[in-house]
Amino acid sequence: MVILLVGAGLSGAVIGRQLAEAGHDCRIIDARPHIAGNCHTERDADTSVMMHVYGPHIFHTDDEAVWNYVNDFATFMPFQNRVKTTTQGAVYSLPINLLTINQFFGQTMRPDEARSFVASKADTTITDPRTFEEQALRFVGPEMYRAFFKGYTEKQWGCSPTELPASILKRLPVRFNYDDNYFFHRFQGMPQDGYTAMVQAILDHPRITVELDTPYTPDMGEKADHVFWSGSLDSYFDYRLGRLGYRTLDFERFDYQGDYQGCAVMNYGDPEVPYTRITEHKHFSPWETHDGSVCYREFSRLAEPGDTPYYPIRLVEEKALLADYVQMARDTRGVTFVGRLGTYRYLDMDVTIREALDTAQTFLAQSAEGQPMPAFVADPS
Ligand code: UDP
Repeated sequence: MVILLVGAGLSGAVIGRQLAEAGHDCRIIDARPHIAGNCHTERDADTSVMMHVYGPHIFHTDDEAVWNYVNDFATFMPFQNRVKTTTQGAVYSLPINLLTINQFFGQTMRPDEARSFVASKADTTITDPRTFEEQALRFVGPEMYRAFFKGYTEKQWGCSPTELPASILKRLPVRFNYDDNYFFHRFQGMPQDGYTAMVQAILDHPRITVELDTPYTPDMGEKADHVFWSGSLDSYFDYRLGRLGYRTLDFERFDYQGDYQGCAVMNYGDPEVPYTRITEHKHFSPWETHDGSVCYREFSRLAEPGDTPYYPIRLVEEKALLADYVQMARDTRGVTFVGRLGTYRYLDMDVTIREALDTAQTFLAQSAEGQPMPAFVADPS
């Protein structure tokens, strides 16, 4: 069979690799001039720092099979994400942990004391937090909500946290010990030569061809036995019902001689600071030494046509439109929608890879039985 995969990011590469190994010819196209989608990395010509071109990507997972998979294609270096935040005139440790709580309230509490103290701040009348704000008020109380979450979230999402789902905040833990590792997964690391080299290795198979700078045209789909679409779901249908909303990011680059901020990610919680965070890319490769440094100030805004989509917004309005596109997709034969854009979800890299592996397996099982491939393997609703 000839398979067309639209998008040479993690979804397209992993599905392509699995199907190529099963004996299918895979044509992978991407409209951009590089592979690896938004986890694309490249060395800066001036400083030789490995740049996370579309913002920071830190690999973390509890899925051992996914961890083993990526380790087959890249050497992973130990890396722990230790994020700091500047807010209300001080620097604190994130995610909120015992150091953050003690410093913020000028206390020297032990874990149980801090737990009771924070519980006393929490709004216990909120029994079933639905919104981001309710979740924050329920678990950290109003002072820390304002300092760490409210301003940052308004900048990141361009709306009030009362309009956002609680699930966004659930990504972040609150810890009553001094563990400041942002992620709580068994496996965490950074590919030594960057994500693009890893994706290149995944794509390196005699049955895979990759064409860059190649936007999709319908005749390509007609020539293929099946299409895996990792572009945005609404773009497949030429935005016929309207556009699904995304936040996009603008990066304002600045160079520095030496160490600008002493860590990879510094968030800014104050609403008066227009950017959400500054990333200093050489700290994503702590095993390397560079005199020069490259930083990005990161600004978030609503994506306009032509902008790179990053975060699906998924508020009530978008979800209604999404449901209509999902129905259209289910009525379309021969195309499976995959990945962050294809299923309009806020996906981490490990989940993207897990779903790509499952999608390839489903495809092989369905075709062995002569059954049609569904439009979605992962539920986008
Ligand atoms: N968040 C916040 N303050 C912070 C960091 C995160 O309020 O200092 C909120 C914000 O709404 C963000 C969400 O928590 O969108 C999830 O944060 P995460 O660090 O997972 O975001 P990502 O790195 O994926 O942009």
